[in-house]
Amino acid sequence: MKYPKPSLLILYGSLSTLLFGFMCTLFVHFFISEVESYLFFIIPFLGAVFVFVIFNFFLKKFIQHRLAILYRSVQTKQENINLPYLDESLDEMIENAEEKVEQWRKFQTKEILKLKEQEAFRREFLGNLAHELKTPIFSIQGYILTLLEGGLEDDNINKKFLERASVSTDRIVGILDDLDSITKMEDEKFQLKMESFDIVGLVKETFESLELMAQEKNIVFSLEDPGEPTFVVADREKIGQVLTNLVRNSIAYGNKDGSTTITIFNIDDLTTIEVSDNGIGIEQSELSRLFERFYRVEKSRTRHKGGSGLGLAIVKHIIESHNQKISVKSTPGIGSQFHFSLEKN
Ligand code: ADP
Repeated sequence: MKYPKPSLLILYGSLSTLLFGFMCTLFVHFFISEVESYLFFIIPFLGAVFVFVIFNFFLKKFIQHRLAILYRSVQTKQENINLPYLDESLDEMIENAEEKVEQWRKFQTKEILKLKEQEAFRREFLGNLAHELKTPIFSIQGYILTLLEGGLEDDNINKKFLERASVSTDRIVGILDDLDSITKMEDEKFQLKMESFDIVGLVKETFESLELMAQEKNIVFSLEDPGEPTFVVADREKIGQVLTNLVRNSIAYGNKDGSTTITIFNIDDLTTIEVSDNGIGIEQSELSRLFERFYRVEKSRTRHKGGSGLGLAIVKHIIESHNQKISVKSTPGIGSQFHFSLEKN
């Protein structure tokens, strides 16, 4: 049901008082004592004016003031919700109240949902982190205990165990380095160092730095480029990290005697880089979660122990902070292709 505006209500109230005053005067005149004729107008008129003044000035101001304070106390930083201020009239205030409080409710519900999501994310993140760190720390603990309990004197195992402990330490350092990268990139002050550079040159550098790792699995690198330097505008160091993570994965999840190919092609004002392999591939159902932190395709946790589980999350973060997109296509048993674009110079 829609109520009339407060101003109209006050007017109706005053008119009713006028009528009521007139009836009362009439009643007194006929049943109690005779009333002078001019009083028939004066008494109802004074009653109506009294009601009008009391409601219009005092009560209206009082309600308006309290409402404005109430609105202010629920006011949010959200700019598109303009809650009423003291300078709005009571009519406007009441008319807009329902709509504004509804807006406010929706905004708060969204905020609560966001906070709940962040909380769930934080919990999952900490759980994953603990899980990732537990494996190498427990193995280091195991090796140290064995060495302390006499293994140190046993030349068959002492060096081997120390080497294994060192590998586990490297794994922890890798996880911490990746976490550090993500944290730095999430910092509000983080800024990309944009410059113009030749992406073909950077791909060649990446291949060189991962050559030894590829040789262990006899994986061949190949580059298909437009045949000339291709200049892009991006943060060279960060794009180097993207290429390293993608190529490293193509080796880690690639088959023995396989191949990793990087293809560079220009479309309009974008340069697209595709990193493809003929490795184990990824199930379609896993693709949407692939870029999440610590997400691993099932079974690969046991298959590949080197990575931090943050590699693709970092890749996505870097590409998105360049306002570009990364996508993946994959077929189990055939191979995977990761594409990302960069702004052409
Ligand atoms: P990780 O340290 O486990 O490699 P990433 O974030 O780099 O972490 O990758 C997440 C998961 O995505 C990997 O565990 C792996 O299951 C899958 N993955 C990534 N790249 C490839 C690829 N080229 N081929 C097959 N699976 C891949």
